[in-house]
Parts: sequence; structure tokens; C-alpha cells
Amino acid sequence: MWRYWELLPLTSPKAAIDLGEVMTPIIELPCLAAELGVSRLTVKDEGVLPTGSFKARGAAIGVARLRELGGSAFVMPTNGNAGAAWAFYAARARIAAHVVIPADAPLITRAEAILAGATVTVVPGSISDAGRCAGELAAENGWFDASTFKEPYRLEGKKTIGFEIAEQRSWRLPDAVVYPTGGGVGLVGMWKAWTELRELGLLDRLPQLIAAQSAGCAPVVRAFEAGMDRCDVWPDAMTHAFGLNVPHPLAGALILKALRESNGCAVAVDEDAIVSERLHTARAEGLHLCPEGACAVAAARMLAGSGRFGGSADILVLNTGSGLKYPPEAADQA
Ligand SMILES: *Cc1c(COP(=O)(O)O)cnc(C)c1O
Repeated sequence: MWRYWELLPLTSPKAAIDLGEVMTPIIELPCLAAELGVSRLTVKDEGVLPTGSFKARGAAIGVARLRELGGSAFVMPTNGNAGAAWAFYAARARIAAHVVIPADAPLITRAEAILAGATVTVVPGSISDAGRCAGELAAENGWFDASTFKEPYRLEGKKTIGFEIAEQRSWRLPDAVVYPTGGGVGLVGMWKAWTELRELGLLDRLPQLIAAQSAGCAPVVRAFEAGMDRCDVWPDAMTHAFGLNVPHPLAGALILKALRESNGCAVAVDEDAIVSERLHTARAEGLHLCPEGACAVAAARMLAGSGRFGGSADILVLNTGSGLKYPPEAADQA
């Protein structure tokens, strides 16, 4: 990802923190493409990044930039993957990491953050409650508040997904890109990346952006369908795709703007459909998606079923993390 440093907020490539970030593969899903009746369905597999999720992109740039600016400590709320990624990059950069995690976020990501030396505060409630607690800790201790969309740099890191898709596909983008949306950093980041590449004359046609959410927490879908320009709080949010468990995305306005500018849409997927899509993709294509990635594939399937895509459509789906972070229960596979 550091190959794009001229379009990133670093003053020099020497400021990079290298944990072995790779250009993540784009993998064909021929069986699923046939089932959906589209000409091409691919998945960009972000599970191979350091710390096993695409949160590594935001953490790499966010922590590198914090170090460049002389920062020595940050605090952030997280459902898990962001906290794990930021903890490891912070260890590498010798910056103190403090993360605030809701009690029901997965234990594996909490353990990763602790392993990397972060201070972990566990709070009852949702990521919004963790956000309030992080804000208080920042004010009390003078730590930098690295909450999603309160600091500007992780968005810049997420742009590299968009740069890679463009470069890997020889500057011809797919017809639609389906993104499992929580706080929306990746979605807004890809849109920013492509807009910048278009300004540079490297792209002309941009894809439709499609936000996939769980029906258990779908504030973006509700706001999109209601024609609103920001998101209301989703009450009693509940989804096993924990990266999508963001009941009140701070950047709702930016997400909705990107969806509309791209002629895209937002789709809610039932929890059962996420589970069965994960199982089906494992068996039909040999690919172990995380539930968030499975949600995006299931959203593509729903839209294909409703006739949104033509037979020549070329669809790309993001798998945002490694399936191994969510050990499947034996009972789920029967
Ligand atoms: C954080 C996360 C998401 C959602 O990403 P946003 O940029 O917050 O929308 C999706 N999948 C996984 C695995 C995540 O960790």
C-alpha cells in the first residue's frame, strides 16, 4: 500500500510502518457468478493483511501519521478488529495504544490487542458507548482521540483499497462494488480514491457502490431508503458480523452521499442468510469468508435476484477480514 504514498498524507515513504502489507488478491467466484446470472463475480480478499482484516490499512497510515506528528498515545473505541490492528501498528511505532471495547465484542480481537501491549477498557453497551468512554479518556489523559472519522487519516489508509482495485484491473473498474458497511470508512475511502484517480485522468467510469448491512443493524439502509441525508441511531443493534455492528455511523452523511453519487444503493441481509452464504461460498468456491464478507456476497445475490444487474455485469465484493477470526461452530456446518 505504501506504493501510493504520494496520494497519502505522509511527508515521505520513510515514515511508513511496514508489517508486510500486501496487495490483496482479487479472486474469481465462477460458480457464484453463474448462480447470480452475472458475467463476473470477484472477491477482493482483505483477510490476508497483517492482523487478518482490512483495518490494517487504516491503522498503518493512522499510526504512521500520528508518529510523524509527534504523537505518543491514542485512545479509540472498537468492535475489535480496529483495536487489534492499531495495537500492533502502535507496538511497532512505540506509541501507547488504549482501546475501549464493548463487552460483547469477540474475545479474540480483545486478546490480540492485549497481546500487542494495548491497555484495554471493556464497557457495557455498544460501540457508541465505547466511543463516549474513549472521548472521556482522551480528555482526561491528553491522549489523541483516534475514533473513526474523528481523526482524518484512517480514511486515507482505506483509500488504498480503491487504488489497488483500479491498478489490479488495469484502470477499468467493475460495474458495482459491494461493501459490508459498518462505520463506512472503507466505502467513503474507495469513493475518495476513485474520485482522485479520475481527477488525475487515470479513470473515467466509476462503479456503483453498494452498502451491505445486517438486518440486525441497518441504519444506512434505512436512511438510504427514506431519502435522508444522515443516519438515525438503530435501536437494539444485533449482528454476529461484528464489524457491521455500528448503530450510529458518524459519517452517515458521507456514506449516503457516496452511495447516491455512484447511483448505488444499500441492502439489508438477514443473519441466517449471512450464515448460509458463508457456508455456501466455503463449499462452492473453497473460500473462507468472514461473516461481513458473506453479508456482501448475500447482498449481491439479493440484488441479482431482483434484476438489478444485467447478464454482462462485472461485480466485485469485499471480504474485509479472515474467516478464521470467527471460528465456526461445528453445529453451524451440519
Ligand atoms: C470494521 C469492519 C467492517 C466495517 O468497516 P467500516 O469501514 O467501518 O464500514 C467490515 N468488516 C470487518 C471484518 C470489519 O472489521
